[in-house]
Amino acid sequence: MSVPISYPKDTVVSFTKDEIMFRESVREFAQKHIAPKWIEVDEEASKDPMKIPLDLIKKIADQGLLCIPCSDKYGGQGGTYTMATIAVEELAYADPAVALAVYTLLNNGWPFALQLFGREEVSQEVIPRVSKGEAFFGIASTEPQGGSDVAGIRMTAKKINNVYVFNGEKAYISGVGEVQVLPWGGGWFLIARTGEAGHRGLSAFAFLAKKNGVIGKGWYPTIYHDIGRHGLTTGGFKCENFELDKDYLIGEENKGFYYVMEGFNLARILVAAATVGGARWLLEQAVQWFRTRKLFGKYIASFEGISFRFAELYAKYEAARYFVYRASRLADKIYIEKDPAYNPRDLNIPVALAKMYGPELATELGQEVMKWYGAYAYTKESPIHRAWLGLFSYTIGAEGAQNIMRYIIARDLIGSEYMRD
Ligand SMILES: Cc1cc2nc3c(=O)[nH]c(=O)nc-3n(C[C@H](O)[C@H](O)[C@H](O)COP(=O)(O)OP(=O)(O)OC[C@H]3O[C@@H](n4cnc5c(N)ncnc54)[C@H](O)[C@@H]3O)c2cc1C
Repeated sequence: MSVPISYPKDTVVSFTKDEIMFRESVREFAQKHIAPKWIEVDEEASKDPMKIPLDLIKKIADQGLLCIPCSDKYGGQGGTYTMATIAVEELAYADPAVALAVYTLLNNGWPFALQLFGREEVSQEVIPRVSKGEAFFGIASTEPQGGSDVAGIRMTAKKINNVYVFNGEKAYISGVGEVQVLPWGGGWFLIARTGEAGHRGLSAFAFLAKKNGVIGKGWYPTIYHDIGRHGLTTGGFKCENFELDKDYLIGEENKGFYYVMEGFNLARILVAAATVGGARWLLEQAVQWFRTRKLFGKYIASFEGISFRFAELYAKYEAARYFVYRASRLADKIYIEKDPAYNPRDLNIPVALAKMYGPELATELGQEVMKWYGAYAYTKESPIHRAWLGLFSYTIGAEGAQNIMRYIIARDLIGSEYMRD
């Protein structure tokens, strides 16, 4: 439920008339179809992670909220990256446990990365299915030995005649259940080793674990029981001689590290947008409480220990939102307008700021709102912990650990030659 707050009018984050209309339409859709269901989705999937809300995924697809920046030539929406960002922010505001927002962000960011670097025929095969909600397409980088060290990836993809043969294991991967239950299937923008040790021996693939409704041989998935963000599965999978046609290689062999870093930059803008949308919901829960809860004969916001802290967190929320939309505008300049004054590396710092700041703000805010609500927040009847735990997934590290964001900012400002061991 949204709570009326007089937010200041947007100035720094100014939207075009089309974007305002788009935001209104997404908000109306999300408040009508997602907001009334998110608690039930979170609760059901907390008991059984395979209780995937397929009906809501279909509604999101029918509303045109998947593959927004992808070209209409591939069945995408032909929109901008800022529109995808707006959509994710609004979905997270309606579902602050962020399962549906994250489903949406993955299936915007990674199909777009596929379109940028993959073969045209593969984009034509995969993107229309993702766009219609019949297939999932996310990212599979992390392995059991650690996610931050992408250059240390161990899964191998050995080329034998016309196929790549995969062996190894991926862990903590979003969408392992969705790929299995969606009618067409799908998979991930997957990184595996095709060459020497280090980042120059990695290649990217459109790894379709299931296509045309058929799961490939040699793919063995498992599903995890997460502490939050229920409604979108996380799992792992082993590959034992899993074969993929060579055409599913993305770009050139052994250049995968560079493509995935660009893909991460794009996806992280949407990640940060999800945390800002969830944070807005949390702020409104706080205001609603402040307008009703009285102690010692006065509203609790009369205590400056509470209202001043709220004001500080609101300032952080505004900053986080600014970081998000600055980065999305820049992504539009680079990838949609193709403005020659900008290049993909220009996104590094703006994106790392957004991904560093948004999740930490949302987690900090969630914890404060829990405390302001007091004991009620510690019961399962209160929905606040669901938002807090869902948003915490991004402080833990989904789409990149927080210290890696700090590293990127420091490295690009100081110079990597001054930060070696
Ligand atoms: C809900 C959820 C969904 C996920 N979905 C996906 C997915 O779809 N696809 C996918 O590939 N991965 C996914 N992940 C994994 C995620 O990408 C990893 O959690 C992340 O990359 C961090 O890796 P790690 O968890 O192995 O932690 P590690 O890399 O082992 O890091 C452990 C700690 O060390 C810190 N650290 C690491 N390196 C440095 C350094 N150089 N300097 C200082 N500190 C450092 C980190 O900040 C972290 O606190 C998901 C994770 C979660 C929680």
